[in-house]
Amino acid sequence: MMKKITIIGSGFSSLAAAAYLAKAGNEVSIFEKNKTIGGRARQLTNQGFTFDIGPTWYWMPDVFERFFSDFNKKPSDYYHLVKLNPAYSVYFAENDYITIEDGLDKICIAFEKEEPGSSKKLIKFINEALDNYNVAIKDLVYRPGLSPLELVTPVTIKKVGQFFSTISKEVRREFSNPRLISILEFPVLFLGAKPSSTPAFYSFMNYADFGLGTFHPKNGMYSVIKGMESLAIELGVTIKTNQSVEKIIVENKKASAIIVNGERVTADVVLSGADYHHTETLLDTKYRQYSERYWEKKTFAPSSLLFYVGFNKKIENVNHHTLFFDVDFEKHSEEIYDNPRWPDNPLFYASFPSKTDTNAAPQGHEAGIFLIPLAPGLKDTLEIRETYFRKIIKRLEKLTNQNIENFVIFKESFCINDFINDYNSYKGNAYGLANTLKQTAFLRPKLKSKKVKNLFFTGQLTVPGPGVPPSLISGKLVSSLIQKEC
Ligand SMILES: Cc1cc2nc3c(=O)[nH]c(=O)nc-3n(C[C@H](O)[C@H](O)[C@H](O)COP(=O)(O)OP(=O)(O)OC[C@H]3O[C@@H](n4cnc5c(N)ncnc54)[C@H](O)[C@@H]3O)c2cc1C
Repeated sequence: MMKKITIIGSGFSSLAAAAYLAKAGNEVSIFEKNKTIGGRARQLTNQGFTFDIGPTWYWMPDVFERFFSDFNKKPSDYYHLVKLNPAYSVYFAENDYITIEDGLDKICIAFEKEEPGSSKKLIKFINEALDNYNVAIKDLVYRPGLSPLELVTPVTIKKVGQFFSTISKEVRREFSNPRLISILEFPVLFLGAKPSSTPAFYSFMNYADFGLGTFHPKNGMYSVIKGMESLAIELGVTIKTNQSVEKIIVENKKASAIIVNGERVTADVVLSGADYHHTETLLDTKYRQYSERYWEKKTFAPSSLLFYVGFNKKIENVNHHTLFFDVDFEKHSEEIYDNPRWPDNPLFYASFPSKTDTNAAPQGHEAGIFLIPLAPGLKDTLEIRETYFRKIIKRLEKLTNQNIENFVIFKESFCINDFINDYNSYKGNAYGLANTLKQTAFLRPKLKSKKVKNLFFTGQLTVPGPGVPPSLISGKLVSSLIQKEC
């Protein structure tokens, strides 16, 4: 039977869920508080520069293909993908970097140069990672996290040791070169926790990195959002922006309406893709499932200090994606997870989309996005942001051997306060709840409310976890659950 389904938020998970639910014949409306859709993946344009505000790495292309194929479509019906070569480079000191190219054979050559004999170990490690990818991304992540039994299969029983060992341990077992270790530990940073707190099973991220490669959608990640918007609209979804949901109304223990900009909108089902903690604050206290103490105790993914910068020259000695690992990673991760404070000497990441995409900057100019991972909940002021901008630009100048600061013609920043104001993010986290052993699958906040009928949740705080591909999967999982239960 057709149901009226109201969705809070327009991030990847909400758009995915909306498409599935509309395809199943429901009347679906999205209410988004911001003036543009896309959530964490919105876009900033200014003076001819175009920046993705959030995600910039397009990994696991098969997950996007699988999503669009559920609607008899292909990604190329909506956006154009370029495989990046090199995928990225990693700086360790002045003029000293390792370049990761677009294929395992080429990556093996780079590894061999660093540590003779390491390519053989790499192939073994990536084969194991491929095996985990096939188990996890083709199967396990498509299970809704309702019961621990979902994780028990003949294959996972054999891999149980990998849930109790960590990526850090596994990498160090095989490799001793610190530069290779940090390259192999980098992919799991997307899951939001330290490599030493991330189960070894998550090495499937290494297969995504070295096996599948890094892609760039022309005009940026936002073109994926635009593609999903077109698909949702084709399927009949209504999308409303500047609509901040203020309350979820519960009658007879059932979600029956939302209050948006002071008006009541009735619904048969309410689905929230907004941050979980915030969504529960839209309910009267007695209907909330998780206490403040519960959220306090959770390991959140880091927040970030971001800069979107327009340069009136081309920046040299950098690639589309460039990581700056020239400082002590252990110390910076302690400052994120163990002893939350502004880092003394942070690692940072820079993306120059105009290296690949002529639409990202005017001719002869460069668009730069800079990201410093931070502990959520820190005090955020414009002065502090500025200090860090100067810190990283100075480092960038030194490491890449050029003058950069004088060529800045546009600059905007985004940090903890913006994550809170723009997305109602808990403590200003950037990408949800980390995927640690205790926060995996059935141990994550549930897709379906235990206290309120017809109220559901999706997105990076639920299953399977942070990142764009998991958000698409989360939208699919919750829509199946709604179809089954309502
Ligand atoms: C800086 C950064 C870099 C990242 N890099 C990558 C990357 O390179 N690759 C990758 O795969 N992933 C990356 N991620 C993670 C990825 O972007 C997210 O996991 C994903 O976009 C989350 O989608 P979502 O649907 O769960 O939530 P969101 O995108 O957060 O969507 C939630 C929406 O709900 C809206 N909302 C909140 N409260 C209300 C309300 N009361 N009423 C109405 N609407 C409301 C918000 O405005 C928002 O639009 C990155 C994230 C960040 C922040």
